[in-house]
Amino acid sequence: MPTVSRDVDYLRLILHQDSDGILLSRKRSPELAIELPEIQELRMLLGLLADRGIEKVRITGDDPALREDLTEVVELVASISGVREIALTTRGVGLAGRIAPLAREGLAAINFNLDTLQPKRFKQLYGSDQYRAAWRAVEEALAQGVTVKINTVVTQGFNDDEIEDFAELARTMPLHVRFVEWNTDSEALAPPADFLPAWEVFAAVPHALHPGQAPPRSGPAKLFEVDGSPGAIGFIDNVTDHFCSECRRIGLTDRGEIQSCIFGHGLSLLTQLRGAEGESGVREFIDRVVRRKSTLVSRLGNAPSPFLEATAEFALARGDAAAAYGAAAPPPPAS
Ligand code: SF4
Repeated sequence: MPTVSRDVDYLRLILHQDSDGILLSRKRSPELAIELPEIQELRMLLGLLADRGIEKVRITGDDPALREDLTEVVELVASISGVREIALTTRGVGLAGRIAPLAREGLAAINFNLDTLQPKRFKQLYGSDQYRAAWRAVEEALAQGVTVKINTVVTQGFNDDEIEDFAELARTMPLHVRFVEWNTDSEALAPPADFLPAWEVFAAVPHALHPGQAPPRSGPAKLFEVDGSPGAIGFIDNVTDHFCSECRRIGLTDRGEIQSCIFGHGLSLLTQLRGAEGESGVREFIDRVVRRKSTLVSRLGNAPSPFLEATAEFALARGDAAAAYGAAAPPPPAS
């Protein structure tokens, strides 16, 4: 069996709202039966990816917490031999009251995308007044022993006045707050002009931060401990210090398409699986995609951030704050 040329061990399982409840139920129309993998086909694709080194699966896409079949999805992923960790990315709305069964099935970690701790702002941002429901899910996850990370994109003039409040969460609760420069899941091809570089957020945190040690497969954040606190603070500087050369992630969509990068187009593994070559065709296809990724990230290795090149209008004055952040930040773990 050929081996891959790069350590790819992290899969984003990307689920879309229109497959909600259909992915795993028997209620699919003939059209969807053509478009979506059957449960045994999805299991086979996940198994073949696990054979190629995938150990961690993150369930993501249109908010998976809103899916009626989320527990079944977790159960399916947990049944794949070789998968050692299952994580979820969500805003948290719709999750409270469901975390205990998810944890029992094997869900170990939840990343909450939460850009504000203010109910009014939450409504303004997400068009929903369910801030408290989202926060209940955070508390419930902690009570169930699930690892909690809160991802916060800080933008100038919108939520930069909440940096202290977010930092206070990490000081008082056993969770990680991770300040993200830019939400790469957005449709935009470049960060907005009001993005804040990590060093400015770092400078605004009112606590002494000490470089911390992130566990393996824990993501690309540069992690800091806060004096005497149960939590930690991380910075995901995906604009100013892009980390593509460290990337160990690929994606699989609910259409059975494999993606070498979140910005890449999907290539259909499902077509391969249903084709003449079947399983061996899929194995070869996965190898090709992973090799292509290897070439891509090697090329990106020491190049300046493509985001910065694409957004020349950013005034990135690398002043004292940038120097202090650069000197203090630990190297990011492999993502
Ligand atoms: S290669 Fe870069 S942009 Fe693509 S998924 Fe990895 S870290 Fe993200």
